[in-house]
Amino acid sequence: RDLTELKWSKAPCRFCGTGCSVMVATKDNRVVATHGDAKAEVNRGLNCVKGYFLSKIMYGRDRLTRPLLRKRDGVFAKDGEFEEVSWDEAFDVMAERFKAALAAKGGDGVGMFGSGQWTVWEGYAASKLMKAGFRSNNIDPNARHCMASAVAGFMRTFGIDEPMGCYDDFEHADAFVLWGANMAEMHPILWTRLTDRRLSHPHVQVAVLSTFENRSFGLADIPMVFTPHTDLAILNYIANHIIQTGRVNEDFLRDNVRFLRGQTDIGYGLRPDHPLEVAASHADAAGASEEIDFDTFAEFVSDYTLDYVSELTGVSPSKLEALAELYADPETKVMSLWTMGFNQHTRGVWCNNLVYNIHLLTGKISTPGNSPFSLTGQPSACGTAREVGTFAHRLPADLVVTDPEHRATAERIWKLPEGTVPEKVGAHAVLQNRQLKDGIINAYWVQVNNNMQAAPNMMEETLPGYRNPENFIVVSDAYPTVTCEAADLILPTAMWVEKEGAYGNAERRTQFWHQLVDAPGEARSDLWQLMEFSKRFTTDEVWPAELLDANPEYRGKTLYEVLYENGQVNAYPLDDTSDDYANDEARHFGFYVQKGLFEEYARFGRDHGHDLAPFDRYHEERGLRWPVVDGEETRWRYNRDYDPYVSEDRQIEFYGKPEGRANIFQLPYEPPAESPDDEYPFWLSTGRVLEHWHSGSMTQRVPELHKAVPNALVYMHPLDARELGFNRGSEVRIVSRRGSIRSRVETAGRNRVPRGLIFVPWFDATQLINKVTLDATDPISKQTDFKKCAVRLEAV
Ligand code: SF4
Repeated sequence: RDLTELKWSKAPCRFCGTGCSVMVATKDNRVVATHGDAKAEVNRGLNCVKGYFLSKIMYGRDRLTRPLLRKRDGVFAKDGEFEEVSWDEAFDVMAERFKAALAAKGGDGVGMFGSGQWTVWEGYAASKLMKAGFRSNNIDPNARHCMASAVAGFMRTFGIDEPMGCYDDFEHADAFVLWGANMAEMHPILWTRLTDRRLSHPHVQVAVLSTFENRSFGLADIPMVFTPHTDLAILNYIANHIIQTGRVNEDFLRDNVRFLRGQTDIGYGLRPDHPLEVAASHADAAGASEEIDFDTFAEFVSDYTLDYVSELTGVSPSKLEALAELYADPETKVMSLWTMGFNQHTRGVWCNNLVYNIHLLTGKISTPGNSPFSLTGQPSACGTAREVGTFAHRLPADLVVTDPEHRATAERIWKLPEGTVPEKVGAHAVLQNRQLKDGIINAYWVQVNNNMQAAPNMMEETLPGYRNPENFIVVSDAYPTVTCEAADLILPTAMWVEKEGAYGNAERRTQFWHQLVDAPGEARSDLWQLMEFSKRFTTDEVWPAELLDANPEYRGKTLYEVLYENGQVNAYPLDDTSDDYANDEARHFGFYVQKGLFEEYARFGRDHGHDLAPFDRYHEERGLRWPVVDGEETRWRYNRDYDPYVSEDRQIEFYGKPEGRANIFQLPYEPPAESPDDEYPFWLSTGRVLEHWHSGSMTQRVPELHKAVPNALVYMHPLDARELGFNRGSEVRIVSRRGSIRSRVETAGRNRVPRGLIFVPWFDATQLINKVTLDATDPISKQTDFKKCAVRLEAV
C-alpha cells in the first residue's frame, strides 16, 4: 500500500446500531478525516456528532500498546503492579491459569465476556474457542445488558430473531410511537429520517413515551410521561381499546396468529436469597404457554380500562386514547420503536411481546410503514451478538445449545466430533459476575467492553469477583478503563479500521470494511488474540478422555488446528487476496482469516432464512439486509411481496412458528423489583447521552466530545431540588441500598424529569452510577433493569 497518498475508503461507524456508513481518509498510515457516506442508504451522507469525530477515536494519548501483567518480584502476583510484558509471557501466564481452571472444573471454571462491538468474525471465533475448544458455554456478550429481552421477545412471538421491517419504514409510516426510546440522542441519524417524514407530511403524528421528558419530546404530538414500569399496562390498554372499538383485523388473526397464556417465568433474577426475590409474590403466575382463544384474551385485557390505566400510569385519559387510536385506526400505518426503555426492564420480554400483540391484532406488520421495530444499541448487537450466537445459550443462526440437533449441526459444520459442544446453558452476564465472586469461574477474559463500569451493583457483585484471589482476569482493550484497573492482565487491542471487520446493524444489514491503518505498538486485534491463544492448548489438555477415545484422530492437536486450520477457515490462501485486501491477521496466519471464518459461519444460515451473500460482495456494497437470496436482499420479512421464504399460497407467513402463525401472549402488568419508599424516595433511571458512546472509553478521548459533556449530572425536578436545599450545580450524594456516588445537580438542560425521579447517565468513569443500581434482571432474558431502582439524595 502507498501510505503517503490521501485515500478514501468506506467503513461503518464504530459506534451505534444505526449502522451509518462513513468515508474514511487515510494518509501516512493514519486516519485523518471522516465524513458521512453519501452513497449509504442508512445515513445518506449524514453523521451524528460521534460519527463526525470518528477520525480522532484511535489517537488518544493513553492508547495501550503493550501487554501489562500484575507482577511482584518478577512473577505474576494478584496484588502486584502492572508491568509491561511480551505477548509470549502474557499468553504463557494466561494459558497456565486457564488450563488450571479447566483441569479443576472443566468448562464451568472458565468464562468470557464480549459484546456487540466484536466484529462478526471475532464473535464467531470467540464463540468457537469457548463452546467447542474449551467446551464451555460460559460466554456472553454485553448485549445481555442491551438486547437480550428483544431477542427473547422475537423468539417467543415469531420464532426468528430480529425485525421483520427495515429503515425504509420511516418513509412510509403515518405515525411513530417511541416506547421509552430517546431517538433524538441515541439514534440521531434515524431521528433525522423520522423528523424528515414528520415535517414534510403534516398528517404524520409522533407519540413519545418515557418516564421523563427528553430531547425527543421536542417533536412529540402526543407526549406522555408515565410512572416507571407501567408501560405494560398501557400496552394492554391499547389491546383492549382495539378490541372494544371493533378494530381487530379478524381476517389477519384467522390466518396468521394464535393466542397463548404467557406466564411461565417468575422472580426478578436476583440471587435466590435476596430479600426482594424472596418477597416477590407470583402466586398466580402458574400456567405455561397453553393455547387460549380470542375471547379469553379479550376478557383478560378488558381489565385494562382507560380509568384504571390512567390512574396507574399518571397519564391523562385523552392522551392514552389518542395513542390507542394511532394503532386502532385502520388507515394509519404505525412504526413502533424501542430500545432500552423496554429491554432494560424486569418484564422486558413481556414488553416486547405486548407491543407485537397490538401490531398483530390490527395486522399492522410486515408491510411498508407498519413495523414494530426493535432498535439496537451496539454496532453489531445483531450481526455479532445475536446472529453469530455469542449468548450463553446460543449457536449461530438462532440455534441453541440445549437442542441436540442444533449442537449436531454446529459440530458437523465445524468438523468436530459429536458431543464436543456441551448442552448446559452457560452463565449469563450477571451470573458470571456472581460466579466470579463465589469462586466458581476462576479464569475469565473480557474483550470489547468495559463491564466494570457497565454492570449493575458493581461494588457488591462485580468488583469482588475480579479481585477474588482465586481468579485470573484478562481484559483486552484499546484504552485503560476501570475494568482494566480491576484486571490481572491487560492486552492491547487494535480498534476499528486498524483491522478488517464486519458489523450487522438493526435492520439486518451486514456491512464490511478493510483494514486501513496499522495498530499502534504491539496492539493486536481481538481476532488475532483469540486465534493465537488457541495455539497454547491441545485437545488432550482440555477435552475429556472419552471424547478423544471415540475420536482418536483429534488427539494431540492444538485447538488452533481443530478450530481454525480445519480446511474451511484456512481455505482462502493469502495469494488470492489483492494488496488492498491484505490485513495483519491474513499475513500473520498465512490465509484470509476473515473470509474463511465468515464463509464457514454463513453455512449455518444459508437456506434457513438467514442467508448471507458471498463474502466478497460485501466489500463492494454499503451492506445488504439478510436473508440475501439469489443476490437480492430482503426488506420486509414474512410478506410474500418481499420475502422469498413465504409460501406461494400465503400473503403473510410467520415461518419461524408452527403453521406460520405468530403468538399473541396474554401477559399482565406487574410491579418492578424495587420502588421508592420513605427511606429511598426517588426513582433512579440511568442511560446514555448523545456525545458519548457507552462508558466513554473512546469518546472521552476526543477533546471536542469531552469538552462538550465532560461529566455526568444528576437531572432532577427543580422543586425536588429546592425542597432538599440544592441549587443547580450543587454537589450531592446519590445513595441506594447498594452504594453511593457523588454528582452535581442539573434542573434544566436536555432532560426535564418529573418529581420523584432522577436521571443519571453512566458514561462518566469518575461517577460510577452502577455502584448504585440493582442487579435485578428479567427472569426470561436475564437482562438487567437499569431504569428503575430506589435512591435518596444527600447534601455533600
Ligand atoms: Fe455512528 Fe450511530 Fe451516530 Fe450513525 S447515529 S454516526 S452509527 S453513532
